[in-house]
Amino acid sequence: MIPSLREPRPFALRPVTVVKYVLLPTILLCLFLITLAMPNRSTMSNNSEFQSSKEDLHARLTPEQYRVTQEKGTEIAFTGKYWNHHEDGTYTCVVCGEELFTSEEKFDSGCGWPSFYAAANEKVVETETDTSHGMVRDEITCHKCGAHLGHVFPDGPRPTGLRYCVNSASLDFKPTKPNHKKTED
Ligand SMILES: [Zn+2]
Repeated sequence: MIPSLREPRPFALRPVTVVKYVLLPTILLCLFLITLAMPNRSTMSNNSEFQSSKEDLHARLTPEQYRVTQEKGTEIAFTGKYWNHHEDGTYTCVVCGEELFTSEEKFDSGCGWPSFYAAANEKVVETETDTSHGMVRDEITCHKCGAHLGHVFPDGPRPTGLRYCVNSASLDFKPTKPNHKKTED
């Protein structure tokens, strides 16, 4: 029996096959690449909420605040706003407003920078080893915006034994509202 000449060869590239296995995947791949190339607006605004607005930071921070928080500068000892500050209240990040320290944990270290034996809570301040200037120190930064705050040293008072040595230029201060006025009988 003679095999039918009409029988299609197994690997013949028929038009349907070409569309199904070549064109469609190519189109899908192109669409995928275009999607990748497009900037994702929501991601951008989240990641660069504080980072991308350098101009904005320059406009609303003093040159000293910018140098300290964005360029890891250090203010000269005994020159800052808060090293000798004793009001009750909360010290916030000058860049993003996060509550970083409270007057409860502030103590007089005598070093010329505002010093705290603990942060307002464990999450708000991040610690990273800093080997600049020929020293090994633990740099502290704002958890929320990454602003440089200062360094933490293991020579603080009880109960933590830590000394968070912070630049005044990294901080703002919110005084505690006098809700509970003491009455004298
Ligand atoms: Zn911050």
